[in-house]
Amino acid sequence: MSTRTGIYPGTFDPITRGHADIIRRGRKLVDHLIIGVTTNPSKNPMFETEERLAMVKREVAAMDLDNVSVVGFNALLMKFAEAQGASVILRGLRAVADFEYEYQMAGMNQYLDDEIETVFLMADVSLQPIASKLVKEIALYGGDITSFVSPAVRDDVVARVERIGMKGDY
Ligand code: ADP
Repeated sequence: MSTRTGIYPGTFDPITRGHADIIRRGRKLVDHLIIGVTTNPSKNPMFETEERLAMVKREVAAMDLDNVSVVGFNALLMKFAEAQGASVILRGLRAVADFEYEYQMAGMNQYLDDEIETVFLMADVSLQPIASKLVKEIALYGGDITSFVSPAVRDDVVARVERIGMKGDY
């Protein structure tokens, strides 16, 4: 019997409640879900790859999901997916703003490997506005990010902001 493997790739800088919801939904569609944490230096992440990987692993362990694993990668997504034997790429879609980028990437990825399908999922309506980028911006200006990330991730972000030292002026 063949097993279906899916990859949910992302920067996860940091992992949010929106990501966690996509993981919970996505894992039901495949036998094995691999969360691929990309290096993505072009995004100038707040957390190093190893830190993001450790955070995602910790979050997934706390969610207690038996068919989910977490792997870091620094390669072309489709090559990583092929190496993992995946047949599905999972991505989350928020508002229209995500669509153009995701549409283009899925299309280009079809050129690279047409056997691997990209599947889009929507998070719970209440979690759709959550974006890592805004979580970081709010935290950098001393705002409360409790609604957007787990308590452990909140502590990590707050500690990082304290190290970077930016809280804003009035
Ligand atoms: P990337 O740098 O690859 O966009 P992200 O960590 O920002 O990585 O996001 C990974 C995936 O999760 C993307 O498909 C993104 O659209 C999706 N995603 C992020 N936040 C949410 C959310 N609140 N609801 C649904 N999908 C989301």
